[in-house]
Amino acid sequence: MSKGRTEIAVIQATSFCNVDCKYCYLPDRKLNRRISLETVAKIADRLFESSFIADEVTIVWHAGEPLSLPISFYEEAHKEIEQRNTRGVKIAWSIQTNATLITGEWCDFFKRHQVRVGISLDGPKKVHDAYRVDRSGRGTFDRTMRGVRLMQEAGLRPAIIAVVTDASLPHPEDIWRCFTEIGAAYVGLNVESAEGINLTSSMQHDGAESAYKDFLKRILSSMERESSSPLLREYENTVRHIMSRSSNTRPQDNIPMAILNFDCEGNVSTFSPELLTVRHHRYGRFILGDVFKHSLEDLIHTDIFRWLSSEIEEGVRSCRASCDYFSFCGGGWPANKLAETDTFKSTETSSCRLRVKSGVDAIVEHLEERFGSEMSVIC
Ligand code: SF4
Repeated sequence: MSKGRTEIAVIQATSFCNVDCKYCYLPDRKLNRRISLETVAKIADRLFESSFIADEVTIVWHAGEPLSLPISFYEEAHKEIEQRNTRGVKIAWSIQTNATLITGEWCDFFKRHQVRVGISLDGPKKVHDAYRVDRSGRGTFDRTMRGVRLMQEAGLRPAIIAVVTDASLPHPEDIWRCFTEIGAAYVGLNVESAEGINLTSSMQHDGAESAYKDFLKRILSSMERESSSPLLREYENTVRHIMSRSSNTRPQDNIPMAILNFDCEGNVSTFSPELLTVRHHRYGRFILGDVFKHSLEDLIHTDIFRWLSSEIEEGVRSCRASCDYFSFCGGGWPANKLAETDTFKSTETSSCRLRVKSGVDAIVEHLEERFGSEMSVIC
């Protein structure tokens, strides 16, 4: 089993989230567990002593609402990590947040540390509030937008992660206008999928594939119409892939050690970040070790790592042998395969039919309509 270089380290600063989105995959979001600076320091020790680490690593605060912890914690945590970076690895900081707790002081912190801020926003109020609610069932759009506006005033351009649900499908133009108006730099569309404790999706229904394809084509048309449109991840990746004619795209989620996920107690997993918190009815947890007891090199000699890697690789091999979209997809997302099919060895899921197959079809059709025969030559 070949390993990847570690390019992403996801660190759970807290398990707690102050909101309660209906499709959330995190089982412990009501629990107020927090990482200690001692654990942060140990994670940094393990990362920078590891032979897996790439020359540049993105450290993402995620898997709970990171902004529930004070700015002073992150000032100290960044210091602890930077002090241990004796090999001079380039660090890119990132925070994934629902934006409801952003203040002017947070914006200063983002600037000071050049933090890439990913905001979870599904579109305008009627779309966002359908699923992104608090514990009393109230929509969170207004609170999210307050944070977004503070970022705009501070001259910061967020990256948006939008979950596409059945509530999004009728409103592609409004959704794109919303992202353009807030000055987003970048948008990623995550089709709602079964992952973690979210066992079903509002997008698993008859007609969802053609509806998503139509949705994405209308997003692409809006993108071309708006003069200051953000970049769309799905479009950028597909076009880059077509132009490079590469047959070797694999998501980091299915490459061993490419992503390392650390929970707030120092437990470590690899592959899809969602696997950090999953408790499977047959397999239990997918924790490979604990930073206080194990080096990252130790992890790859555990039975669970060998078993997990071989099952995931078998799924990727089956995808390669059976799927016309393999060169775009690279064999899918282990956490989604497990949630939908109860095994990592499987191939097609309803999520990949939407996210990959309908997505690629929509983009290629759009390019063909736009560029006609020139495009057929490239494809
Ligand atoms: S699109 Fe689905 S079936 Fe095809 S390679 Fe990806 S995960 Fe496998």
